[in-house]
Amino acid sequence: MLRRLCEKAFPKALWVYHANCGACNGCDIEVINVLTPYYDAERFGIKLVGSPRHADVLLVCGPVTRQVAPALRRLYDAVPAPKLVFAIGSCATGGGCWFDTYNVLGGVDKVLPVDYYVPGCPPRPEAILYGVAVALGLVPKKVGAEVMRQETLEELAQARPCQSEAGP
Ligand code: SF4
Repeated sequence: MLRRLCEKAFPKALWVYHANCGACNGCDIEVINVLTPYYDAERFGIKLVGSPRHADVLLVCGPVTRQVAPALRRLYDAVPAPKLVFAIGSCATGGGCWFDTYNVLGGVDKVLPVDYYVPGCPPRPEAILYGVAVALGLVPKKVGAEVMRQETLEELAQARPCQSEAGP
């Protein structure tokens, strides 16, 4: 469904607005890296724009801090529909090393509906490009969603006991 929407709505290009909502700048540097002539994202029609009103895609880096959450929501509302949201990096994906801290709400999906997650701390430029290429329908997904049940986790723990439990 999402793939069909992308193919119809964004046949040739994705115009991207990049937002930092609490990142350490590591992910932002990799996003900028993707746009440099070395990785040359413009060959896929990916272009950075200066206003959310011109964008098809929000690329969000960093954990969502309490202070920035209302502004991030306003930013999302300013992007015309149809729109996509990419969470770039482990912090944006689930809070990363700031998970459950007093000033952080968590990943971007605590505030906005996220369409694509690109984990990594920071993700490599190739991973960011791959995520965008999946959204454009240029390459297939390599992995699907998986639900981990408590029993599965216990089976995994039994199959691979940690070293301290296994002894020398
Ligand atoms: S994922 Fe890593 S590099 Fe990216 S904002 Fe978080 S700490 Fe920084």
